[in-house]
Amino acid sequence: MRPTGRIHLGHLHGALLNWKKLQEEYKCFYFIADWHALTSEYAHPEIIRETTYDIVIDWISVGLDPEVSTFFIQSQIKEHSELHLIFSMITPLPWLERNPTYKEQLQELTHKNVYTYGFLGYPVLQAADILMYKANGVPVGEDQAPHVELTREIARRFNHLYGEVFPVPDVILTPTAKLLGTDRRKMSKSYDNAIYISDADEVIDDKVGQMITDPQRARIKDPGDPDICNVFSFHEIYTDSETVEKISGECRSADIGCVDCKKLMAANLKKGLEPIKAKRKGLKSNIQKVREIVEDGNKRARAIARETMAEVREAVKI
Ligand code: SF4
Repeated sequence: MRPTGRIHLGHLHGALLNWKKLQEEYKCFYFIADWHALTSEYAHPEIIRETTYDIVIDWISVGLDPEVSTFFIQSQIKEHSELHLIFSMITPLPWLERNPTYKEQLQELTHKNVYTYGFLGYPVLQAADILMYKANGVPVGEDQAPHVELTREIARRFNHLYGEVFPVPDVILTPTAKLLGTDRRKMSKSYDNAIYISDADEVIDDKVGQMITDPQRARIKDPGDPDICNVFSFHEIYTDSETVEKISGECRSADIGCVDCKKLMAANLKKGLEPIKAKRKGLKSNIQKVREIVEDGNKRARAIARETMAEVREAVKI
């Protein structure tokens, strides 16, 4: 996860809760991708340090377990940069230039100059991150799948050139996040439409109050369509199923207004986030403990990275 801002509900439902499930089944490595963050935040890198530990706190607060999974900070494992360098020698430029995410991001990030060597090579660094731990699977959303495909190609090319060192990892497709931002676009810090786990209750009330609902429902007497309403998607997660059904019917028959519907949703959302926030508060007041957790994870990751790099140097004969 890139440390470029606080964790929002899009992250929670689009990635973290899935990661939580995965750790029951797999040996997982979760890391703060601070070098990746630098590819776009190089002009204002302060945000990286500011948010790194905050994100780890959120991970633990939502139930990721550092005893079960390994948490680490990418830049603390210097071996990633060496493997990235070696992979960059064998990655043909057209593989990177045709990457659809790269093209999309160039168009989207117009306010930042990302026509850089590092940004183009982002997937090569990702390949190093993944293959360093000889991962068999990478949990990603559909939009990230082409990056993993590139990792697979790099692994195959390396193995072909220097002998079998890396497994070719599979994509573990994660369900796409159902929750959109308050303006119905993808929830994102850059769109200023996100509800954060750490938002105070009043802030949540305010943001929910501003949420765009069924755009066809202009007046309270107009029937609504919960299936296209983002507030309803939140209800489906945070409200009990009986009430969800009731709201669905009342929305369609115009027996409930959006203001009341939002108030109910906000109340349930705040209640749902309560245990996470309580855990968050405890960890915030013991930041030293969080640092120790990360340091311990760094050590575990570094030991594996050293072994892999010894094998890689041997294979490359350098
Ligand atoms: Fe959405 Fe609720 Fe309004 Fe229906 S009543 S459109 S579900 S906010």
